[in-house]
Amino acid sequence: STSLMLFTRDLRIHDNPALAAACRADRTVPVFVFDDDLLDGPFAAPNRVRFLLDALTDLRGSLRALGGDLVLRRGDPVAEVGRLAHRTGATELFLADERSAYARRRLSRLREIGPKVTAHPGITVVPPGDLTPSGGDHYRVFTPYWRAWEATRWRPLAATPRTVRLPSGIRAGSLPQLDDLTSSATSRDLAEGGETAGRRRLLHWLEDDAEDYDTVHDDLAADRTSRLSPYLKFGCVSPREAAEAGPAGFRRQLAWRDFHHQVAAAFPDLPRADYRSRGHRWNQDEDALSSWREGMTGIPIVDAGMRQLRQEGFMHNRARLVTASFLTRDLGIDWRHGLRHFNAWLTDGDIADNAGNWQWVAGTGNNTRPGQTMNPLRQASRFDPTGDYVRRHVPELADVDGPRVHRPWTLPTARRHGLDYPPPILDLE
Ligand code: FAD
Repeated sequence: STSLMLFTRDLRIHDNPALAAACRADRTVPVFVFDDDLLDGPFAAPNRVRFLLDALTDLRGSLRALGGDLVLRRGDPVAEVGRLAHRTGATELFLADERSAYARRRLSRLREIGPKVTAHPGITVVPPGDLTPSGGDHYRVFTPYWRAWEATRWRPLAATPRTVRLPSGIRAGSLPQLDDLTSSATSRDLAEGGETAGRRRLLHWLEDDAEDYDTVHDDLAADRTSRLSPYLKFGCVSPREAAEAGPAGFRRQLAWRDFHHQVAAAFPDLPRADYRSRGHRWNQDEDALSSWREGMTGIPIVDAGMRQLRQEGFMHNRARLVTASFLTRDLGIDWRHGLRHFNAWLTDGDIADNAGNWQWVAGTGNNTRPGQTMNPLRQASRFDPTGDYVRRHVPELADVDGPRVHRPWTLPTARRHGLDYPPPILDLE
């Protein structure tokens, strides 16, 4: 028998249930399709395309080492998979079960082309819909979800295939160059994509930083969170494996990820519409919005986060909270503008996580205290007490010592004028 394995956002060979099932056939065709619809849309941010190419190069290497290959195509995934099924006589198709509206449409079209289709879990630790409160189709509040999540038994780890046997006569296709897929620039300090890099990061983090995760994860300058998010986004690391290996505080973060995914599955409009409308009237302020995007608000803790985003395609979680709160609460600008900007730069940019978190901060989402605000200056002194995070990301302030760097407006006039840094767009004092 011959099977097809369609990779989507599960670019790994370890603990990949769909791949393990596909490799039980005599012959297996592992395939990835560059989906023209996705490449033309807002989801194809250059940083993520770069990361994706790394991940596919790595996956192809792993499959070749097992005797197989990664077959690459471009176009409509359903049409391409249909063609391959026809050529190889494949009778079964396996892929990861994904619940976005787009993935659900793709799945129902795939079911019409011939081979028997089976979707396996693997994108989250606990699949959306597995846990439901009584009388509802999804959890709206995190704490009860977390309790139920902690109490469930996870699926067993999937075996890594020992060999992958391709049918003969298949053209594997070559990997495109970055320029073939996107015309815009990527961030300068991007993490390397792929399963090998992701597993290495997980191992090093477990050795060096995991133990005191609970006490250091909010320290901006320490920068000691796992930085696994882009690997989880593309499935280079199995969330199930990471959850088992990491400490409880870290597991709780992975449960947040699952939580947002089950909200987005039940409420697919999450990136567009208020989850819970509170009748917000947002300000239209193009100048303020553009200062925020550029990291030129004159509020160092905000600018540091926004500069880190552009430089690395990543931002520390605490800085995401501070910058998002500043945009929506202090400037009163619609969270959808913030979401769009984050989505354009984040290597881990994900519809469910990005929208779920933006709405949480803006007070339109699952926050049980939607009225609560964060003062950026208080956040700065708590989570960047030395000012090192600001000095690292805002070079204009690199010579201002100590926590004074958070309030450049209090420096003596001559010193202040010597800095090539804007005055604050808002008085927070
Ligand atoms: P760690 O602290 O090591 O956490 C481990 C993992 O848990 C992360 O890799 C991530 O997968 C998950 N996680 C942690 N916190 C959250 C959270 N609040 N929500 C969902 N998952 C979480 N995360 C994304 O993966 N993609 C996004 O597009 C995204 N957008 C965000 C937008 C805003 C406004 C905010 C406030 C947060 C956003 N997050 C997003 C969540 C969080 O900031 C990142 O997951 C985290 O900073 C990644 O760093 P890390 O891997 O070192 O995290």
